[in-house]
Amino acid sequence: EHKFVQFKLVLLGESAVGKSSIVQRFVKDSFNDFKESTIGAAFLTQTIDLDSDTTVKFEIWDTAGQERYRSLASIYYRNAQSALVVYDITQKASLDKAKYWIKELQKQASNNIVIALVGNKTDLEEERQIPTEEAQAFANEAGLLFFEVSAKSGKGIKECFREIALKMPIE
Ligand code: GDP
Ligand code: MG
Repeated sequence: EHKFVQFKLVLLGESAVGKSSIVQRFVKDSFNDFKESTIGAAFLTQTIDLDSDTTVKFEIWDTAGQERYRSLASIYYRNAQSALVVYDITQKASLDKAKYWIKELQKQASNNIVIALVGNKTDLEEERQIPTEEAQAFANEAGLLFFEVSAKSGKGIKECFREIALKMPIE
């Protein structure tokens, strides 16, 4: 019998780290170099086949990182079963912001939320400011999944969502 499950996933992280671009790559397999910034939050869905008898539908809330929307974020993560907390590997401060969101999720979100720390823009390797090992070590300590991806090239995006889906309760 075919299993069909759906999960709410929220994206959090500093403005311009590439949250909307990651979602666009996952949902439409496309990328824009000049992306208009998100206002409030955007809702998108994508369905993947986990294996021949399991289909997973992601209900994705892509939030805006701007300060004035910060207080709204809890509306989106409150009922989320999973969260992608995104930073930009070329912007040192974006990892600090990611850590802020992770703390917030661990305090306020549901107890069994699956959180992934995601370093975006690996196509800009020569501008890297955050070593993989540093972010990986933080993720391990905090009990998070960890991925490095590029929304621009598409590298790692499918794998990231697939790994999250595999962590979801499917019975
Ligand atoms: P958001 O504010 O976190 O949603 O970020 P956006 O998705 O709007 O992206 C901000 C900027 O970064 C845009 O100019 C994107 O084209 C660019 N961007 C996003 N992802 C990547 C990536 O993987 N590589 C590169 N080089 N640029 C990216
Ligand atoms: Mg956005």
